[in-house]
Amino acid sequence: MLAARLYGAKDLRIEEMGEPEPGPGEVKIRVAYAGICGTDVHEYFDAPRATHVPNPLTGAVLPQTLGHEFAGTVVECGEGVDRVAPDDRVCVRPIRTCGGCARCTSGLDHLCARLAAIGVTSPGGGLAQYVVVPADAVHRLPDGLSLEQGALVEPMAVGLNAVERAGVRPGGSALVTGAGAVGMGALFALKAHDVEDVLVVEPSPSRRAAAERHGARVLDPTDPAVDVVAEVLRHTGGRGVDVAVECAGRPDALDTALRSVAARAPVVLVALYSGPIAIDTSVIRLAELALLGAEAYPDGIFERVLGHMADGHYPTDGWLDHIRLADTVAGLHDVRDGRRLKVLVDIPGGTATGSSRNS
Ligand SMILES: [Zn+2]
Ligand SMILES: [Zn+2]
Repeated sequence: MLAARLYGAKDLRIEEMGEPEPGPGEVKIRVAYAGICGTDVHEYFDAPRATHVPNPLTGAVLPQTLGHEFAGTVVECGEGVDRVAPDDRVCVRPIRTCGGCARCTSGLDHLCARLAAIGVTSPGGGLAQYVVVPADAVHRLPDGLSLEQGALVEPMAVGLNAVERAGVRPGGSALVTGAGAVGMGALFALKAHDVEDVLVVEPSPSRRAAAERHGARVLDPTDPAVDVVAEVLRHTGGRGVDVAVECAGRPDALDTALRSVAARAPVVLVALYSGPIAIDTSVIRLAELALLGAEAYPDGIFERVLGHMADGHYPTDGWLDHIRLADTVAGLHDVRDGRRLKVLVDIPGGTATGSSRNS
């Protein structure tokens, strides 16, 4: 089979390798689509990062098959698997956890001290024709959802967790800073929670267009004629929005979020920052704000994303680009440079029907 395997910094090879076979409790999936995300970009350009030593939990080493956002069709189940069956269309919650630490045992396994992820720090990944995963990671796609939508469940779960952390109420208002894939996920999640008024701050015209198409009021922070905070306050009668979700990973975006919310409102930080930043903490103190972190996706959230998806809350028009597996490196550059919002890699043979092998 073909797989996109990372050997080191800027060394990703699309190459032939043997197909993995499922052991007891494992499921073999023929992958249809795999998304490229910021984590893949960091691993590719700055490797070895997460992959620098054999992973203590999974033993994964380079070369690592990338791809942790994917969907496909079950082709084979190992002994003892009854959660799914061949021909089921599935997506995968890629995180692997130790199960024994204080966080795992208190229901917060996504914050596990020894967290690993399929396609990053665990053998196998979605940028391959086949992948074998533990059965407990697999989620069946409801009828009516496409494999394309299935590949979006993982990134959309990040935005949904951020919105759930904020505790939004129907009919309220929200600010999202940054309209990349996580920002779009936050926008869709806010709409799924009936938050009426969503303002999105984004410098890229194409990303603003995507957010606007899906119901956001958009603001350009680079427009010298626009004072974003003043505009948000004017729009909310001087009160500020009920919640802000910081998805840009920029100190100025966090500052905007902190200054745009109402007193005692939550500001959720979900973006990745490359290092420490300076913020004016008096803004937090004087308005008694709640600055909250959001990381990945707790247990149970894939089911909620799938439910919202089945209700039509995750449209796929206007923000997705498809590329071929052979063009994965170009796709990584496009995502890094902001030329594309969300890239899905079409895996060869992945949308064939039936569970027979086609490699
Ligand atoms: Zn990701
Ligand atoms: Zn743990």
